[in-house]
Amino acid sequence: MSSSQGFKPEWLPSPNFNARKNNQKPRFIVIHYTAMDTCEAAIGRLCTPLHEVSCHYLISGKGMVYQLVKENERAWHAGAGEWKGLEDLNSHSIGIELANQGNHPYALPQIYSLEAVLRHLMSTWAIPIHNIIGHSDMAIGRKFDPGYKFDWRALALNNLSIWPKKETSEAVNVSEFVSLAKALGYSFPNRGSDKGSIKPLLECFRARFRPWARGELNSLDMGCVHSLVFQDE
Ligand SMILES: [Zn+2]
Repeated sequence: MSSSQGFKPEWLPSPNFNARKNNQKPRFIVIHYTAMDTCEAAIGRLCTPLHEVSCHYLISGKGMVYQLVKENERAWHAGAGEWKGLEDLNSHSIGIELANQGNHPYALPQIYSLEAVLRHLMSTWAIPIHNIIGHSDMAIGRKFDPGYKFDWRALALNNLSIWPKKETSEAVNVSEFVSLAKALGYSFPNRGSDKGSIKPLLECFRARFRPWARGELNSLDMGCVHSLVFQDE
């Protein structure tokens, strides 16, 4: 049975796309929330030339999957940012928008559909799980989606996201935290030992891996980033 079986998105073409630079193949998947009141409003925005934004897939709260741009084309969803040293993420990724106002829980039918889209994309383009990221991961301090309500751990349980193997503690070291985050793909300047300087990176990292954590960088954040970087050892 093909992993794409049963995957039948509704075609809803957006004019907002162009060719991927150097005919790049998508290597990454970027997950977003629409931050709009309704899915219909998001469709209007993503399909209107004036707004110059789009995505490849849009998933409604009820789990309807719309395809707006062909997978081999360059949709306009990621904007400015950097991941694994790459800046033009639109040329290197597939963008998935989840209809969500930004502060609401994600409904299960929507997550089930997302999982089906992710499986389809991973098998079509041979995308590994560590290349599935949130918009906030590549645009630290500028973007916050898919946000604190998005359950990355649930995705990880289905082998659709990286996740630390176990909760461990490591000595707090600001510079090392930045270096290890960089090894995962994050882009952030290493300014030495000042804890305050890494606030945007720490917020972004926690939104994804430790949404319950508060306060300054601590030994569990250190353990978490260690565990993620050295997963295979
Ligand atoms: Zn976004």
